[in-house]
Amino acid sequence: MNTMTSAPTPDRFETVACYLCGARESTPLTEAEDDLTGKPGRFQFVTCKGCGLAFQNPRLKAEHIGSYYDDEYIAHRKKSDWGPLTPLYNWAMGKHDRDKLKLVERYLPLGSATRLLDIGCGAGTFLALARARRGAAVTGVDFKDLGGLPWMRDIEFRHGRLADQDFGSRRFDLVTMWHFLEHDYEPLATLARVRGLLAEEGRMVVEVPRLDSLSFRLYRERWPGLQAPQHTALYSRDRLLAMVDKAGFELLDYLPYGAFPPYFYLFTGLAFKLLKGRGLNLSRAIYPYFLGQALLAPLLLLQRHLNLAMHTVVCRVPR
Ligand SMILES: [Zn+2]
Repeated sequence: MNTMTSAPTPDRFETVACYLCGARESTPLTEAEDDLTGKPGRFQFVTCKGCGLAFQNPRLKAEHIGSYYDDEYIAHRKKSDWGPLTPLYNWAMGKHDRDKLKLVERYLPLGSATRLLDIGCGAGTFLALARARRGAAVTGVDFKDLGGLPWMRDIEFRHGRLADQDFGSRRFDLVTMWHFLEHDYEPLATLARVRGLLAEEGRMVVEVPRLDSLSFRLYRERWPGLQAPQHTALYSRDRLLAMVDKAGFELLDYLPYGAFPPYFYLFTGLAFKLLKGRGLNLSRAIYPYFLGQALLAPLLLLQRHLNLAMHTVVCRVPR
């Protein structure tokens, strides 16, 4: 499962200024390893002295990050055989997409006239659901080319970076970013681009891991939200709001949760602590995963009030 045998050399890294305020001065926050796949390397997160944004610094140069998105990370999204647990797994993945749909429809009911753009769409299952259930016109952008998956047939899939996509004069009623912004090498530029792509009365929904959360306090250097080296910035409530504000958005709502199951962070954080950077074998972890979920069910009913792991902003362009 681990195709890299040595840590990335220093020449593969670059130092970066704060994504929010541009300051170069920072203080160390935490070190991190690639706890999910166990690839070698130690990565540094810092806190900006200018504004308090937490981000990875130095970061891997863009041309060296791609290989970290291969292997397990994508393979598990495409894997369909989980043995006896296959129905449960499929239900869990389907629920995640249904929860996304439920969340966005609190702000914008989707229909056949809705133009939806999902940035960082990955395997595209959310778009496929919005298309199948609501008939929405759906477009996805991702730098991994997963356009060949069977359910992507009715999705306009754009392979590459958002910055390189030409949409002409097209506008979208809803732009979603589910766990994309924390991977972005230029989050402010992305948000500015989205601002220009939104139709009048359009909505933007952004979900990211929450730095000032219970799971970060529990796991610190093993917090799954660090996801080194892929995560470039880590957003507290305050910094997430500052980021969308600086990009010129008006905040409509802030949610101390998202569509992503916080239990995933509680479980994997504990596993990462025990494994100490050796990598998590998801195929083997799936039994304890669902067992733990059943045991914690009463607690998880309250997850929206516990500030466990995620948060979401809903924005529009000011009139
Ligand atoms: Zn800053």
